[in-house]
Amino acid sequence: MPTLGIDLGGTNARAAVVDEQGRILSSAKLPLAERSPAAVVEVIALAAAEALSEARVEVRGCGVGAAGQIHRDSGVLAVAPNLGWRNVPLGAMLTERLGHPVRVVNDLAAAAWGELNAGAGRGAQDVYVAFVGSGVGSCIIANSQLVRGAGGVAGELGHTKVIPGGRLCGCGERGCLEAYAGGHNLIAQARELLSAGRSPELARLTGGDPATLNPVTLELAAEAGDPAAREIHERAGQMLGMGIANMITVLNPARLILGGGVLMNCPGLRRYVEEGVRALSSTVSREHLSINMAELGDDSGLIGAALLV
Ligand SMILES: [Zn+2]
Repeated sequence: MPTLGIDLGGTNARAAVVDEQGRILSSAKLPLAERSPAAVVEVIALAAAEALSEARVEVRGCGVGAAGQIHRDSGVLAVAPNLGWRNVPLGAMLTERLGHPVRVVNDLAAAAWGELNAGAGRGAQDVYVAFVGSGVGSCIIANSQLVRGAGGVAGELGHTKVIPGGRLCGCGERGCLEAYAGGHNLIAQARELLSAGRSPELARLTGGDPATLNPVTLELAAEAGDPAAREIHERAGQMLGMGIANMITVLNPARLILGGGVLMNCPGLRRYVEEGVRALSSTVSREHLSINMAELGDDSGLIGAALLV
């Protein structure tokens, strides 16, 4: 029987009816005009109703992938920075509103589960998924099971420390990988160069307007030979490559799946990661490793949330 998948981001809620093979039968996307928990639950319910009426099938439950840290098994969003939420019992609220059992997981876990079952991870049992978008996240799948950890936050690659006492991260701690290599922080570092007048190439590419900066601009400036841009780009690439290589050494997966907007759109950074994994993971841990790009794009979380039910 099909299930309902919900992808809750910071600006939109998407809902889809998904069959057991991970095919989307119908979908709907609605903007979040207001971010109070009650208003967001209402928008999710409207998107779900739209998807359900288009598919005209019964569903047996609902899975939600939400950006944030989720208390294991409780469906409570402990911290959701995009929505400005703390300790919101989203699972219970949605169960009551939708009249279906609802399971809430982290958006990256949902995306990884989607890729495992309907995308680049099909056929593998031990998979490591690393996504670099605005943040840096990863998910461990061992023996076809999501590894969640005692508190439900296993796999937080972005908050592994790379420089003790280093740059301040969005999580409130210092020296995290994400503070150097996440999309938001790549842009922040490029802005610092621009405002200090240290990067003629970035100034040229942006026409001096910091609002046009993105990770691709930084990569273009680095590849054009701008020394300051290159330093930031190379450092981010090397840190990502080493961080992911170390995870391969520890976990010995059969497949590494790379995704997220930054790795999808910045081939230079992707190359650092692939070369880093080949050069720095232990020889025995990568003997059976294949490296694949994520296949489901923006739909991975939606499909994965539905398949987790
Ligand atoms: Zn952090």
